[in-house]
Amino acid sequence: MTFQDHNTSTGHLLIFLEDWLVTLDMLLFFILGLFVHFVFFGSIFDIYFTSPLVHGMTPQFTPLPPPAKRLVLFVADGLRADTLYELDENGNSRAPFIRNIIMHEGSWGLSHTRVPTESRPGHVALIAGFYEDVSAVAKGWKENPVEFDSLINESKYTWSWGSPDILTMFAKGAYGDHVFTYTYDADSEDFGAHDVTKLDTWVFDKVKEFFHAARNNQSLFSKLNEEKIVFFLHLLGIDTNGHAHRPSSREYKDNIKLVDAGMKEMVSILEHFYGNDGKTAFIFTSDHGMTDWGSHGAGHPSETLTPFVTWGAGIKYPQKVSAQKFDDAFLKEWRLESWKRQDIHQADIAPLMASLIGVPFPLNSVGILPVDYLNNTDLFKAESMFTNAIQILEQFKVKMTQKKEVTLPFLFIPFKLLPESKQLNIVRKARSYIKQRKYDEAKPSHLLSCSCIAIGVFVAFFLLLQDCPWTYYIYCLLPVPIWYAVLREFQVIQDFVTLLLTVPPSYFVGYLLVFILGIEILVLSFFYRYMLTAGLLAFAGWPFITQLWTRAKSISLSWIFFSLLLAAFPLMPVVGRKPDIFLVMGAGLLVLLLSLCVLTSLIKRKDSFINEELLLHLFQMLSVVLSMCVTYSTHSSLRKKQGLPLLNQIISWLILAFSLVLPLLSPTSLFERLFSILLSLMSTYILLSTGYEALFPLVLSCLMFVWIQVEQETLQQRGISCKQKVTSVRFTCSTDITQFRQLYLDDVRRAFFLVFFLVTAFFGTGNIASVNSFDLASVYCFLTVFSPFMMGALMMWKILIPFVLVMCAFEAVQLTTQLSSKSLFLMVLVISDIMALHFFFLVKDYGSWLDIGTSISHYVIVMSMTIVLVFLNGLAHLLTTKKLRLCGKPKSHLI
Ligand SMILES: [Zn+2]
Ligand SMILES: [Zn+2]
Repeated sequence: MTFQDHNTSTGHLLIFLEDWLVTLDMLLFFILGLFVHFVFFGSIFDIYFTSPLVHGMTPQFTPLPPPAKRLVLFVADGLRADTLYELDENGNSRAPFIRNIIMHEGSWGLSHTRVPTESRPGHVALIAGFYEDVSAVAKGWKENPVEFDSLINESKYTWSWGSPDILTMFAKGAYGDHVFTYTYDADSEDFGAHDVTKLDTWVFDKVKEFFHAARNNQSLFSKLNEEKIVFFLHLLGIDTNGHAHRPSSREYKDNIKLVDAGMKEMVSILEHFYGNDGKTAFIFTSDHGMTDWGSHGAGHPSETLTPFVTWGAGIKYPQKVSAQKFDDAFLKEWRLESWKRQDIHQADIAPLMASLIGVPFPLNSVGILPVDYLNNTDLFKAESMFTNAIQILEQFKVKMTQKKEVTLPFLFIPFKLLPESKQLNIVRKARSYIKQRKYDEAKPSHLLSCSCIAIGVFVAFFLLLQDCPWTYYIYCLLPVPIWYAVLREFQVIQDFVTLLLTVPPSYFVGYLLVFILGIEILVLSFFYRYMLTAGLLAFAGWPFITQLWTRAKSISLSWIFFSLLLAAFPLMPVVGRKPDIFLVMGAGLLVLLLSLCVLTSLIKRKDSFINEELLLHLFQMLSVVLSMCVTYSTHSSLRKKQGLPLLNQIISWLILAFSLVLPLLSPTSLFERLFSILLSLMSTYILLSTGYEALFPLVLSCLMFVWIQVEQETLQQRGISCKQKVTSVRFTCSTDITQFRQLYLDDVRRAFFLVFFLVTAFFGTGNIASVNSFDLASVYCFLTVFSPFMMGALMMWKILIPFVLVMCAFEAVQLTTQLSSKSLFLMVLVISDIMALHFFFLVKDYGSWLDIGTSISHYVIVMSMTIVLVFLNGLAHLLTTKKLRLCGKPKSHLI
């Protein structure tokens, strides 16, 4: 391409147009990228946190007569298995009634619950037979967020007593007028403030009154004599006592005694009411356990092991055994070795209860009928198991059909309207037109966008026909603009693929392995900061495997030195743990020393050092000195409890304000501009530092300076003649696309280096995942009154400063290696998206809230990293290329 027309006005117009088009192009690209990331960010809530439940199955139940007419379910909320089963100091049981049942009447074991060990999912598993999906989190967790079937809904009548939080959950899910709940008022729960066992005695008293009243109430009496009825007693006292006093407390243990005695009374009232007809089945269990320190939610055995005791109609009598299949120490500890222990999964209790009273298995139940508990004929057991299998299969079939319906539109996304060869032609033509600067002809590339719009409309129409939720439109339509963007960059991709094909296969596999290893290190560094140290050590060794070491010894040595120096930071404790103001002062002194060196070398190199540039440099050094003084005096005055001096505060804010403007006044030649940015940002960072972290941006940017030179060097290694020496390169606003070369494999490495440095900037001084690990003391130079917004903003700026330094260096790397920022940026996005995908699959929808939260936050960090990257790229571009002039004398810099 020639620039003969440079001095003509049309030439200027063309260049202007081209710049404008490039800018517009970038803008569109960024907006698209942003949108895509926001959407995928939202998608985790749709994909992981929506109900996996399916609806539309036919109820399945066993055709044989059930063993029990009614079922009584006792749930002692928050009761640990061991505290119930173990014997006290005197060798007596805390629950003599239950122990008697185990030894003489029924079957027992441990019920294994799943995380989250919370009341709601526990009760859902118990009564509805499935482990509740986490969509309840997204939907508030309180009310019944998803429609599901339960034993209570399938029963003829259910009477329940207990906490409103639990009972309303199942009453609302049930249709018809067959569920009766008796709850204490949620607001006035403090009637049990002094003695929470009242929560349990309330239930027992109400049940007693209920059966007493039933004798004189004809309609209630006849209902109670129906079959397939359920009584559900929810006992909250033990959980509340456990939270208040811990499970080892006297209160917790006494509450177990009280529940045991209450149950004994309830059972005798019921048996008496029904004249000992032997048609009542009883189940006693708890929704979850509790840790020694009185919490639940996670997966510790103390939380997941709950008692399970069942007796009455249809249940096996105790089985005396000489050996048991469990090798934990519990049986011995509890002195229950000779009574057969049968463990159960919490969700299996629902099908057991359903089969006992002969109601259909709850539709969403995934529980497997524990036939070993049943005291019935083999025919009944076989029939029940068959029904169980059919019922689970039903769900699978419905789910399959739904999946098919959902997946169908995706099959139509491939560009059927537009054969690939045709696309290729259009893109090629458009590309060549652009190369020939025939903008009018390049316009036919609108054909591509037109066909993309057509496909979009087609897909939307298809979705409309299928009556899909609106989010599906976004998920299905999103590939269209992405492919549009990709196809427009087809030349770059094609070049890259041809390049890859020229690489020998063994090398290719090697590169791929290194690439995967690199990404794994990045992913792991989110969990273990020291992985960054490992990565940086590998970086330090990198010059030896390339020719860099033989070609440029001094650059290699400084690269190794700064890599090793930076590698020390991830090993240090999280910021704010060990404040050390002298390290901050040391960092300031190092900056000053460095700037003196730079100043002298600049004066030496330039024969005519322009006055205003010298002035600016000195002014920036002064601001570093000022910020050191302010930091020192503020911290010493705070130590003396004298508060933040007003003067210090004013100077701090002034330094912050100037730090954003001063670099724009410096000359745009590469090193001068970058150094000016470093000086400005360091003066702010010193104000925000309390310890060793003040050294971090300094070491980081030293490494960045070396990086720029290293990249220049590697480019020369490939035999690409560089038009300019690094020292003479200038940042320019207008990007000249004709200078861009095609992609090399090294560019993938460059993009990876950038992502790695960004992650290092992120985690180098502390884990951002827990922002509270950042010390509030770091903003004391700016304000001491508590103002969350201002403090948050300042802290965010402190976090962003290392990022800005890396991005500015990257801007320089782009410039010196003559790469189109778009294709480089595309690679960076691809790398971070691979990581995001990695974390997306690591998002947990099980485990304690902490686990879930951490896994989500990792995904969020990577996703927002790509979003933040877009803005940072813009900011870095602005910082490096914009030039303000104080005195309006225009000075022409040659490009
Ligand atoms: Zn609970
Ligand atoms: Zn609780």
